[in-house]
Amino acid sequence: MQNYKYLQDTYLFNYQSKIIQIGEYNELKYLVLEDTIFYPQGGGQESDKGYIWQGDMKIKVTDVRKHNDQVLHFIDEIPNEIDLLKEVTIEIDKENRLLNARLHTAGHLLANILESIPTLIPTKGHQYQSGSYVECLGDITELNLKLEEIQKVIDQNINDDLKILTQSDLETNHRFVQIQNYSPVGCGGTHVKSLGEIGKLTINKIKNKKGKIRVSYSIS
Ligand SMILES: [Zn+2]
Repeated sequence: MQNYKYLQDTYLFNYQSKIIQIGEYNELKYLVLEDTIFYPQGGGQESDKGYIWQGDMKIKVTDVRKHNDQVLHFIDEIPNEIDLLKEVTIEIDKENRLLNARLHTAGHLLANILESIPTLIPTKGHQYQSGSYVECLGDITELNLKLEEIQKVIDQNINDDLKILTQSDLETNHRFVQIQNYSPVGCGGTHVKSLGEIGKLTINKIKNKKGKIRVSYSIS
């Protein structure tokens, strides 16, 4: 099984590895690496962007997906010079990784706080740069009444710089993530070390979407 380095260290932006497979999926070409730091799209979170270098050859990774427990690094063309025996250097876009990790961790915090309201059950998170939200089942009227209070808790938790704790089982790649003072949840995403890194987290909009409450937020 591949070693998913992104589960162990959010701040690892370069890594040496090897190509173990060259493949095609729906006519799209991809590489599989022995170890990878590329986060594959999933769990409501966008994939990493970046490059795979082999010597001077720079291969742009256009998309990253997980399929059958393998991380597939999609590329436009398989270069003729590619050498399965030679090492490659993986380089991910640092700014993009950190923004995704901040948005994703913000989603955890918001879900944790919403969950503490007895009439609300968070069911889904979506943390895209184009728009992030936590979806809940429950009472939108009560949520609207408590909005100011919720924003205060968010601000306080971020100001307190609560730590994000992770516990991994390297055999199964199962991992639990916990914001200090809250309950742990199973998650395979990328997280910042502590809430202070998120910056300002603001709830922008609450709306009812086909019986589900969508709480949209942004960070700055
Ligand atoms: Zn997570």
